[in-house]
Amino acid sequence: MSNQESALVKRRWCYVLKPRAFEISPCDCGNHDLDWSEYEKHVWCAKCNKDFIPKHGGIFDGPIPVGATALLGLSFDRINLETQKIEKFNTDKLTYEKTHG
Ligand SMILES: [Zn+2]
Repeated sequence: MSNQESALVKRRWCYVLKPRAFEISPCDCGNHDLDWSEYEKHVWCAKCNKDFIPKHGGIFDGPIPVGATALLGLSFDRINLETQKIEKFNTDKLTYEKTHG
């Protein structure tokens, strides 16, 4: 187990919704239509062709009001990048459920 904070860690999953849906800050170039980077804590700007850590993490910077986000239509469902399967977020149990098939 290494403990290097600066090391890039490959994501094993990403949210189905794009970073913008979670109010994550845009790229320096002004592009707000970002994608999840292949690295944890990073987002990807297709205009600049770069991975970067956003200035602020939108709703992830604070306690997440799961009930309110559900009302806003926000989903925390995620894609397992190893299996390419969607894992549904259970807002009652606050856990992910593996889907089959
Ligand atoms: Zn950019």
